[in-house]
Amino acid sequence: MDATDTQKSHVNRRSLLVGTAAAAAAGTAVGTAEAASPGSVTWDTEFDVVIAGFGLAGCSAAIEALDAKPDAKILILEKAPEEHAGGNSRASGQSLWRPKPNKQALMHYQRKMGEPNPIPEELLEFWADRLLELEPWIKDRAKEARQEYVTSAGTREMPEYGAEEAVLSATILPRPGGLWEAFKKNIDKRPVTVWYESPAVELVQDCESGEVFGVIVEQGGKRIAVRALGGVVMAVGGFENNMDMQRNYFGHDVYPFGTPYNTGDGIRMVQKAGADLWHMRARVQSGGIWPAIKVPEFDTVFMRDFQSREQTDYHSWIDVAADDRRFYDETERYSATHHKEKRHGHYFDTEFFQVQPVHMIFDETVCKNFCLMMKWMTWNAAVHRYDWSEDNSAEVEKGWVLKADTLAGLAFKMGRNADQIIRTVDEYNEACRAGKDEAFGRHPDTLSPIENGPFYAVKIVGGVVCTSGGAKRNKDSEVLDYDGKPIPGLYEAGNLGSFISHLYQNGAYLTEAMITGRTAGRNAVLRA
Ligand SMILES: Cc1cc2nc3c(=O)[nH]c(=O)nc-3n(C[C@H](O)[C@H](O)[C@H](O)COP(=O)(O)OP(=O)(O)OC[C@H]3O[C@@H](n4cnc5c(N)ncnc54)[C@H](O)[C@@H]3O)c2cc1C
Repeated sequence: MDATDTQKSHVNRRSLLVGTAAAAAAGTAVGTAEAASPGSVTWDTEFDVVIAGFGLAGCSAAIEALDAKPDAKILILEKAPEEHAGGNSRASGQSLWRPKPNKQALMHYQRKMGEPNPIPEELLEFWADRLLELEPWIKDRAKEARQEYVTSAGTREMPEYGAEEAVLSATILPRPGGLWEAFKKNIDKRPVTVWYESPAVELVQDCESGEVFGVIVEQGGKRIAVRALGGVVMAVGGFENNMDMQRNYFGHDVYPFGTPYNTGDGIRMVQKAGADLWHMRARVQSGGIWPAIKVPEFDTVFMRDFQSREQTDYHSWIDVAADDRRFYDETERYSATHHKEKRHGHYFDTEFFQVQPVHMIFDETVCKNFCLMMKWMTWNAAVHRYDWSEDNSAEVEKGWVLKADTLAGLAFKMGRNADQIIRTVDEYNEACRAGKDEAFGRHPDTLSPIENGPFYAVKIVGGVVCTSGGAKRNKDSEVLDYDGKPIPGLYEAGNLGSFISHLYQNGAYLTEAMITGRTAGRNAVLRA
């Protein structure tokens, strides 16, 4: 079904399309509305709930809305074509936070993780209650999809804040992609209308009360006015692919590991609707900025596979910064802290994205034995199914990985100062021979000299998992305005406006997407 089965319902209310008054004044039609004016909107079609975004938050909203009201008419709007739907949920590592049955421990841990920017207690308590009852619902999703649900102890991040008492893990296999595929199968089995290549672009809102009546969708070059009787659920993810927003709110050039379709549309829309924003910039990037490889052939970046002491035996490699020198302990296990390091009692993002350009330099031993690409998550793995060669040879061939017989030759290819690169490698090799890295305290087990030529280098950029910024929302997933009051008919779920703004426990985002999506879907449909 698409918007051609148009249902026109003229709304004789004093309504205003946010941001479209000017367009109407300038003679621009709103959808097919003949009478677009601040006084009226002509709808092309109508649903009980309109959900923007077909990631896990959007899926969860639709499933729950239908559970609450089985005859409800639900529309999911997805900006991407069907083969590219699924958002970051599809590209994710798929870890789900399976809580230990201890509400106080859960709340304590999450409270500590968000300490510099406290999470409202009411929201925290609601989240803990919902997380504690989530597992059977997830298992039902796996069962309906006939996919395997598996559990594990999981990675407990920042243990000093109470992870041990609060965290277990689970997922729906296979990796990559299986979790979202299971949810998509759940949606396919239900009477949910999905419009692909149909981004939500504007909210339709009463100019006085602020109530949201519907949404304007762009489809095939047309603008379509869709009325939402119960409400609009904004589940369009973050701004990972919007470099302008990254620079303004994060302050650095970082590239997405996930879907290329999350471009901060939701932030613009809720802001225009009068929402109060939060978590646009926090003390650290909660999901972390990870070492990434950007190549011209792909929009999104490859994640460099974890190269820590525990995760590989091949250590003849270093990273160098803009000044051609080392700058940190490269083999610390940053994957267990979402790429944060603790200094002076506080967690900070690791430095590598701030000292760009960075190159990883390695020798033949690493090249032959350690595939650089993380294969069980990222968009390039889950959607493009790019299969990086195990010995990196295909990528050397493509020129993504530089190769030279000498370090001087490699420095030339990197565009760096050869004398300094040779000095840096010499100093590192000397530390290896001494068994002690005076400069950065790299563990002695990881001190393998870079000496087995030929030599290789790959450029390392900052890769972002996801952003948390968006509208402030309450426990009912209602979007709040600048006075802290809900904007009637406007809901938000998932990464857009996530309650996570500081440290992050693996599995928290996807379970939050489910919890907030379910809440938004239920409340919106019951309001219809
Ligand atoms: C590499 C990677 C690993 C991760 N690993 C984990 C993990 O192990 N555990 C965990 O909990 N979290 C993880 N995350 C984070 C997690 O994936 C996200 O927090 C979660 O998927 C957010 O779900 P969402 O539904 O809010 O957004 P998304 O899944 O990103 O969905 C948003 C959807 O909205 C669509 N869209 C965008 N704009 C519009 C528009 N204007 N109109 C309509 N549709 C639009 C997009 O195309 C997309 O389909 C990871 C993320 C990445 C990238």
